[in-house]
Amino acid sequence: MREDFLHFLWRQARFDLRDLKTTTGDTLSIQDFGRHNQDAGPDFSGGQLRINGMQWAGNIEMHLKSSEWYTHRHDTDPAYDNVILHVVLNEDEPVYRSNGERIPCLELHGRIPAGILRVYWRLQHNENWIPCHYQLEKITLPERQEWLNQLTEIRLSRKAGRFTQRMENTHRDWEEAFYQSLARALGGRVNADAMDMLARSLPLRILLKHKHSLIQLEALLFGQSGLLPAVSPGEDPYLVLLRREYALLKTKYGLRPITATAWRYLRLRPNNFPTIRIAQLAAMLHRTGQLFGKSLAAADAKELTNMFEVKLSNYWRTHYRFGKAGRAGQRKLGSGTIRSILINTIAPALLAYGEQRSDRRFRDRAIELLQTIPAEDNVILRKWAELGWAPLNAGESQALLELKSNYCDQRRCLECAIGCQLLSRSYNREEDGPLLTLNEEASVWGLLNQA
Ligand code: SF4
Repeated sequence: MREDFLHFLWRQARFDLRDLKTTTGDTLSIQDFGRHNQDAGPDFSGGQLRINGMQWAGNIEMHLKSSEWYTHRHDTDPAYDNVILHVVLNEDEPVYRSNGERIPCLELHGRIPAGILRVYWRLQHNENWIPCHYQLEKITLPERQEWLNQLTEIRLSRKAGRFTQRMENTHRDWEEAFYQSLARALGGRVNADAMDMLARSLPLRILLKHKHSLIQLEALLFGQSGLLPAVSPGEDPYLVLLRREYALLKTKYGLRPITATAWRYLRLRPNNFPTIRIAQLAAMLHRTGQLFGKSLAAADAKELTNMFEVKLSNYWRTHYRFGKAGRAGQRKLGSGTIRSILINTIAPALLAYGEQRSDRRFRDRAIELLQTIPAEDNVILRKWAELGWAPLNAGESQALLELKSNYCDQRRCLECAIGCQLLSRSYNREEDGPLLTLNEEASVWGLLNQA
């Protein structure tokens, strides 16, 4: 049993409000339940009540047992001096303010509707892929879409926050932050950290000085990656040239390469090898240079996608790794990787930029971009599709990934619009009955406590 269940009941006024009395027998009426406070301090602020006809305004604090007031040391915290009501499941001990006054207490025990308690219990105690698996069909399409839209924004805002942090770390250089973020996205799941490290070891301003020479861009990036192989007899002249260029540029800029052990090849398709991704990054910089500015100016997803369609140098059209010739080909970025760049770099960068400038048009563009590109495809999204919730675009696939990992897996059903709908509906269902008897409730609490 968790305290946030009491928060839900209070927030939604889903308990028996008839004939309310404090535990000392004073009559109580609630005019305003207040605002839920997610930060430190009392659980709800701005509440308004009448106790025995006297008007009160202030904060409301909640606990399962009243004695938690002392366990949590609220008695010594001035932030709790303005608590006008203590809402608890059970009052096991009276609670006093520092001036010796007893804090009015409302017990919810005996006031919780049976339907809500049952639905809550089912959500918290089952082993389905998502706890509301069998109730999902009760959610209407508009309800689903509204929540998915909110989740898309929640996830995008978190990514934009990370982009802003990167921008702050690069002395507010948007191009530098974008280049680092793009390098990370190019690394995919396996080499994201290594690509990130590589980009941070090699500032964009250095690369841009050599933008017009693809061989120098490759020399800088491969040299810094630590992937340049040692000299071997009869090696390709390309390697000799790369090594020579890197030696000069390394001294000129005082560069220190990262370690080659950062890179992974295992279980990767050759097109996703880090060597190919580094060659693609070099080609992008050679072709476009200031990628962030270009992204801001791009009219739509098609134009953005075109930015990443680059031609590799001759060596990398016939190799996947240094010294090993492979099938000849263009080695283009796959549609999945481009989609990942649009989702994880471009949309967050647009939102971050719009927030810094207080310009909502960039936020709208970021959301529109996600809604324009196709949904991702992975094992989680296929499972959602089996439940009848197949995503229609990348905005929805991002929302469903957010829902599964940050809500369902953590059983945050009380903070989820779907969970709140299911619980609120159960309140109105007559077959559930308005309230449990005290004995029934005690047995449910017993089950909850054992679980
Ligand atoms: S978090 Fe929401 S969608 Fe996930 S199981 Fe709970 S109620 Fe269902």
